[in-house]
Amino acid sequence: MEKTIAINAGSSTLKFKLFEMPEETTISSGQVDRIGIEGSNFVIKTPDGKKVEIDKPIKDHEEAVNLLLEQLLKLKIIKSYDEITGVGHRVVAGGEIFTDATLIDDKVLQQIEALKEYAPLHNGANAVGIKAFKKVLPNITSVAVFDTSFHQTLPEKNYLYSIPYEYYTDYGARKYGAHGTSHQYVSKRAAKLMGRPLEELDLITMHLGAGASITAVKGGKSFDTSMGFTPLAGITMATRSGDIDASLVSFLERKLELSPDEMSTILNNKSGLLGISGVSPDLRDIEDEKDNGNHRAELAVDIFVNNIVKYIGSYAAEMGNVDGIVFTAGIGENSWKMRKRIGAALKLFNVKIDLDVNQNGKGERFINAEDSGIKVMVIPTNEELAIAQQVERFKK
Ligand code: ADP
Repeated sequence: MEKTIAINAGSSTLKFKLFEMPEETTISSGQVDRIGIEGSNFVIKTPDGKKVEIDKPIKDHEEAVNLLLEQLLKLKIIKSYDEITGVGHRVVAGGEIFTDATLIDDKVLQQIEALKEYAPLHNGANAVGIKAFKKVLPNITSVAVFDTSFHQTLPEKNYLYSIPYEYYTDYGARKYGAHGTSHQYVSKRAAKLMGRPLEELDLITMHLGAGASITAVKGGKSFDTSMGFTPLAGITMATRSGDIDASLVSFLERKLELSPDEMSTILNNKSGLLGISGVSPDLRDIEDEKDNGNHRAELAVDIFVNNIVKYIGSYAAEMGNVDGIVFTAGIGENSWKMRKRIGAALKLFNVKIDLDVNQNGKGERFINAEDSGIKVMVIPTNEELAIAQQVERFKK
């Protein structure tokens, strides 16, 4: 009855999923919201699918971890804390230090904190979550799984920017990418679905959620990826701009008398689908408005599709081959309309979508027609399971 818990701590949230290992069955999941803010609340799903909600002040992450563990016992999801033998923490930035998941000791924790510079909103919170768990369950296998590790295989030509080389050596100014756990997980599943060794495949994986990124996965290794020094780069996202001309940033800062931090907030939180459409960051709302004839909503959809098509084209050219493309995450898994549009735009590759399976099929599947030039797949991502699987590697 060994269980592993996957933790994703944000600045005011703590999401978790509890797995029975090595069976990989999900036993429970949930989330603490508004930690340290008025209106804190906790939601937990029990193994029989019941949802339990608790509203009470939760002042910090340690209190959140305590509440979570207490409820696991109280709701009889576990009989004792001894059943939890491992915890995997999602960490956003691993820099060039962490090329793989790693056991957490004091030095690793310090390194994660020091990497805060690369992900100010995330690494600090990730470290707080790690400390809170260590305090409550000090003796279990505790592993950090980094969003950036999978992309540490990028060749130099793909991770270096065309700026003075010293900025890379002195300050680590390079592409690190993100969503690595997801891209790695879905590329492994894609190889299984295709019935071919991952080492032989050239894949393009598209993690299209509120945050969105595209990765060229060559022989199971990340070869190029759309996010950059931070997750701001790449394709248009819910509220992030994706790629823009860097000189536009200083131009707008001057014009609008904005500080670099204010400009960064605009590019991260007010741009993307929200910025273009003026409607919402959520594609579902934008689709509705588009159907009502809203031009800016239509434009947001068109720009999103076009961005994706451009990346697919350039990654196909870079790899010299594509065996399959994979849709995953909120939009990739749920929006058949978006998959249909992207498929239709990939005429150069002779992509043909099976409209019925695309719209009515469920779960992991091929959505391409028999005579399609490339295989097209939908593969639901499961970052928490991927994290739990990493923890298993380190259990004695
Ligand atoms: P996050 O990056 O926050 O993990 P998700 O992967 O959960 O995001 O994706 C959330 C996004 O997925 C929503 O903002 C919404 O735009 C999109 N989405 C979810 N379901 C649908 C749907 N049926 N149709 C279109 N978009 C959807």
